[in-house]
Amino acid sequence: MPSVPTLGELLASGQRSFSFEFFPPKSDAGARTLWAAIRRVEALAPTFVSVTYGAGGSSRDRTIEVTQRIAAETTLRPVAHLTAVGHSVAELRHIIGQYADAGVHDILALRGDPPGDPRGPWLPHPQGLTYARDLVGLVRRSGNFCVGVAAFPELHPRSRDWESDIRHFVAKCRAGADYAITQMFFDPEDYLRFRDRVVAAGCDTPVIPEIMPATDARQIRRFAELSDAAFPEDLAHRLEAARNDPAAAHRIGVDHATAMADRLLAEGAPGLHYITLNRSTAALDIHRNLGVTARGALQPA
Ligand code: FAD
Repeated sequence: MPSVPTLGELLASGQRSFSFEFFPPKSDAGARTLWAAIRRVEALAPTFVSVTYGAGGSSRDRTIEVTQRIAAETTLRPVAHLTAVGHSVAELRHIIGQYADAGVHDILALRGDPPGDPRGPWLPHPQGLTYARDLVGLVRRSGNFCVGVAAFPELHPRSRDWESDIRHFVAKCRAGADYAITQMFFDPEDYLRFRDRVVAAGCDTPVIPEIMPATDARQIRRFAELSDAAFPEDLAHRLEAARNDPAAAHRIGVDHATAMADRLLAEGAPGLHYITLNRSTAALDIHRNLGVTARGALQPA
């Protein structure tokens, strides 16, 4: 039987990827919503789906459960987000081993932010890791994994300047990352400038742009503040004007994201990673607008 290409192999061959991001549900009702969204996305045969990793406690167990269930019960390729926050190396090894046992071979290796106050001082676990680069190395050494990392088109909030940010990003890629996924952003120029900087530093790791459908001005402003993404005033005004008309707000957000995604693909982005907030409707509308072939692959670049 021909072996299934890894995510790294797919991207290295120039095939465009498209993917959807979910978070672990907090309740039974949340789990039903999540699984309905996962099944809708599955029908499109995306390249992968990913599940975020919480700041601590039971949400982390739910990430592992959901990811394992996706591997066992669907046709999807699950990518597990994993952070170094609050974990010793032994604990990280144990989680990575659980994924390997469940047939999950894709991990997005992140440092994570301090629990409570994401802007607070970063204190590594005494037996833990300090940077995402270290986690990339650990996952690589732990088995047959394909590894992704995070990228920040508007500069990581803790980075002093672009020179050090890009240097550390490239080091993280060279530690064994097959691809990167960006933080949300709303101006395609930010992505294009970041990609140019990475290429100029001699790094060819594919950087997949993250697409956040902005259909609710208040919610998106909160996310944008947390991630330091600049939210365009014009888009904010139009969404605020439509705040009593959810269908109009949905159209505004989907149209803005479609135009941005279209431009990114035209500029050669290696794919798109949609945030779904476990609902998927807006992400699926954007994806449909872009034109998708029968088995779910995007039209070749
Ligand atoms: P790093 O690459 O370690 O970088 C952190 C900072 O340290 C940067 O300023 C970098 O320039 C600097 N740095 C790196 N190496 C060095 C070095 N050797 N010396 C000095 N400085 C250095 N968080 C979650 O908690 N759960 C999630 O599921 C999650 N998913 C995410 C998905 C995506 C696509 C993205 C973009 C982010 C996600 N995050 C998640 C948030 C992420 O964990 C935080 O943004 C975190 O602050 C950065 O993580 P990193 O992996 O980029 O860290």
